[in-house]
Amino acid sequence: MRKKIVAANWKMNMTQAESADFVATLLLELGEVSDVEVVLVPPFTALAKVTEALAKSQNVKVGAQNMHWERSGAFTGEISAEMLRDLYVRYVVLGHSERRQLFGETDEIVNRKVRAAHEAALRPIVCVGETLQQRERGSVEKILSLQLRGSLTDLGPKELAETVIAYEPIWAIGTGQTATTAQAQEAHAFIRHTLCEISDEATADRIRIQYGGSVKPDNARALMTQPDIDGALVGGASLDARSFAEIVKGAQDLP
Ligand code: PEP
Repeated sequence: MRKKIVAANWKMNMTQAESADFVATLLLELGEVSDVEVVLVPPFTALAKVTEALAKSQNVKVGAQNMHWERSGAFTGEISAEMLRDLYVRYVVLGHSERRQLFGETDEIVNRKVRAAHEAALRPIVCVGETLQQRERGSVEKILSLQLRGSLTDLGPKELAETVIAYEPIWAIGTGQTATTAQAQEAHAFIRHTLCEISDEATADRIRIQYGGSVKPDNARALMTQPDIDGALVGGASLDARSFAEIVKGAQDLP
């Protein structure tokens, strides 16, 4: 049994005051959700505020959008896993396509970060996904396999089981063009098959794979009903507390 995990990636949005308002509304809308893990991923500047606003909540956790792989040192502008732990952060999104495309992150860099996250007991959410051109060329499986193998190098079964994968087809991110449930399930099944090759069947069965790419309240539940879709990584629709709450509710009572 894999517990569904729904995460809100706010990207470069939300002040501290907006974050606190969001959390207050979300907690009111959600009530006690225990069968879904909820993760809020604010910008670094709102992490402390979100943690403070969540003080009374057991089920909503905090994640960061990025980190550096070194523990400390002369890396101006960077933030380490230990610094995130110091702010009670539990998850960290790594290898998001915006980091890969706009900031030149390679699978090797993502792998360094993933290993450093585990060393600091942070759980990474590792993003993979193809461009439209790669899909049209029929290279989805090749790209996913390369990204998974490159990003997850040298992880043991325990670390792998504590890693979340986010399948985010780049053509679906922020475009309003969601993958069909069949397209998404096909990619997720392939990801699980690859995870099985990287580790073993029991470990691959434990790894949660989120779908990301224009997830909205009206398409979330159908996606998360698919056998290999274990939750969602939500961008645009996560900026509104009520619509994010609807998406979380869509993950409730699912096998
Ligand atoms: C994302 O950037 O992780 C994402 C899935 O964005 P959106 O939901 O806006 O497509």
